[in-house]
Amino acid sequence: MCLQTIVDDIAAEMALVTERGRVADYIPDLACVSPSKFGIAIALADGSCFTAGDADEAFSIQSITKVFSLTMALGLVGDGLWQRVGREPSGTAFNSIVQLETESGIPRNPFINAGAIVLADILLANYEPAEVLGEFVRFVRELAGDDTIVIDHQVAKGEAATGFRNMALANYMRSFGNIHHEVDKVLGVYFHHCALAMSCRQLALASRYLACGGRNPDTGYAMVPARRAKRILSLMLSCGHYDGSGEFAFRVGLPGKSGVGGGILAAVPGIASIAVWSPGLNERGNSQIGSFALERLVEKTGWSVFEER
Ligand code: GLN
Repeated sequence: MCLQTIVDDIAAEMALVTERGRVADYIPDLACVSPSKFGIAIALADGSCFTAGDADEAFSIQSITKVFSLTMALGLVGDGLWQRVGREPSGTAFNSIVQLETESGIPRNPFINAGAIVLADILLANYEPAEVLGEFVRFVRELAGDDTIVIDHQVAKGEAATGFRNMALANYMRSFGNIHHEVDKVLGVYFHHCALAMSCRQLALASRYLACGGRNPDTGYAMVPARRAKRILSLMLSCGHYDGSGEFAFRVGLPGKSGVGGGILAAVPGIASIAVWSPGLNERGNSQIGSFALERLVEKTGWSVFEER
């Protein structure tokens, strides 16, 4: 199986699809990205990368960042984290507030907005927002082995100016005592780490630790214990696409995490990490063409985690 041919074929096929979904426009800077963009990158443990399309163009990773913030927050507080965030699929939109009322301010999982806002609060323990963000960018750069990765401050600023729903979520959780720091600081961290700009190549390289039992394959250093890497992958499978998680698991069969910038990160345990990007979203806020491309990829490679090996 020639991975380069596979990604080239997928990119060629995706270029022909006319039904490309709707670009998110509630974050001002995301509204102007062209829906015709498509990138795909597959990274193997040895660092070799197979890319096609716009795989080297940086885009706003948005909710994909929640995989990295969960990894960091678990490193900071360990399994105590689960007292403040649940592990169940929400079955509701990524920015929904409804379950917080009946569940005493405990978000269903770390991959919806409310859950990731709690993660940002956890990362703030004893630190200022600028320190948390500095550490966050350093962490992702180290994972990717790429010092050029930066936060797009323009995107963060636009979201801070319009993120009323996230402000409501944070304040609501604070009323239950599940946010410990000033809401402005927590959201400052949240908006900025969502605004990390990365290409498919950088994302696929950065997430190799998930496919490699928690180890950064370049250094051999354990970013997370193997057991924790498996648990992060489980959560990606059950919760990584909000109320579209079941559909993604059904169609693709890989742990994945999407973002409203149109990116999807997916991992094939023991084999590869994958990033796709196409800005048009389906009705659940997940990349329409990105999901389609991953479906094709697993058909061609047999990489679904449910495949008989
Ligand atoms: N920053 C975005 C928001 O809070 C992230 C949402 C997403 O990617 N689904 O609305």
